[in-house]
Amino acid sequence: MDISVVIPLFNEEESLPELFSWIKRVMDENRFTYEVFFVNDGSTDHSWQVIEQLQTENPDVVHGIKFRRNYGKSPALFCGFARVQGDVVITMDADLQDSPDEIPALYRMITEEGYDLVSGYKQKRYDPISKTLPTKLFNATARRVSGIKNLHDFNCGLKAYRKEVVKHIEVYGEMHRYIPYLAKNAGFTKIGEKAVQHQARKFGKSKFMGWNRFVNGYLDLLSLWFLDSFGLKPMHVFGFVGTLMFLLGLVAVVLLAIGKILGKLWITDSPYFYLALTMMILGTQLFVAGFLGELISRNAPERNNYQIEKQF
Ligand code: UDP
Ligand code: MG
Repeated sequence: MDISVVIPLFNEEESLPELFSWIKRVMDENRFTYEVFFVNDGSTDHSWQVIEQLQTENPDVVHGIKFRRNYGKSPALFCGFARVQGDVVITMDADLQDSPDEIPALYRMITEEGYDLVSGYKQKRYDPISKTLPTKLFNATARRVSGIKNLHDFNCGLKAYRKEVVKHIEVYGEMHRYIPYLAKNAGFTKIGEKAVQHQARKFGKSKFMGWNRFVNGYLDLLSLWFLDSFGLKPMHVFGFVGTLMFLLGLVAVVLLAIGKILGKLWITDSPYFYLALTMMILGTQLFVAGFLGELISRNAPERNNYQIEKQF
């Protein structure tokens, strides 16, 4: 099979029929063999009935996954990825903001130009400024932290992957914002970008609003960075900082002792006293955190899951 399309959706009943017939048209025109996974993320409208209807009309191509409740876009993608069979996997939003007309070009970038992952880039974006402005900031940070310098738009819903990629990354929490980074950490480094058409939302409204998404977004980025750099060796970061602090505290203690012996100073009057106190306590705590981190990572069931590309 050439292409699997994965579509996470939450209350998008109005868009689905139009979206599917558009995808079908593009696939038929290009003679692709394909399948479409609609992942219904706990919709409270009639989305599921619409999907069932589409399934009866197109039993060979339409698949549905229905969550019992709303878990989020990442879990929806994750469960879709688990079932796909196409050589190239396309993800797109259900709200008709992403155009299925981009699929053939994305497909060719994966199969002919050898990309592992191609992210859409909404060069001209039809969203309110309250969304577009923070997104610029977010992308600049993500570029720096992840080291993927050529991506303008990490969080574009329209992306194409080599099948291997989606089978080897774990999109959890709200990590769909950082799939290119996840892919890179898993060893898929040929990551590209394609400028894509973007439309204003036709029906319903955006499911990602409000400020907490930025706080969460940055915390997630921090977690990923930490996992990438020290996930397998937490002691290297905590132990280092802890030792450094402890040593500083020790120096302060020595200075205090010398001062006491030579100069009869009041120990609690000296700034070194406070330095010694805080540094030694913090240092020990960080050290302990490092040990705990090591213990936890030693106990993680997937601690020795390394990505092996080939073996005989
Ligand atoms: N979505 C989802 N679960 C959620 C929130 C959103 O599956 O909890 C889907 C939504 O239906 C859409 C896609 O994720 O297909 C992107 O959402 P939206 O268009 O609201 O985001 P925006 O384009 O405004 O960033
Ligand atoms: Mg949208």
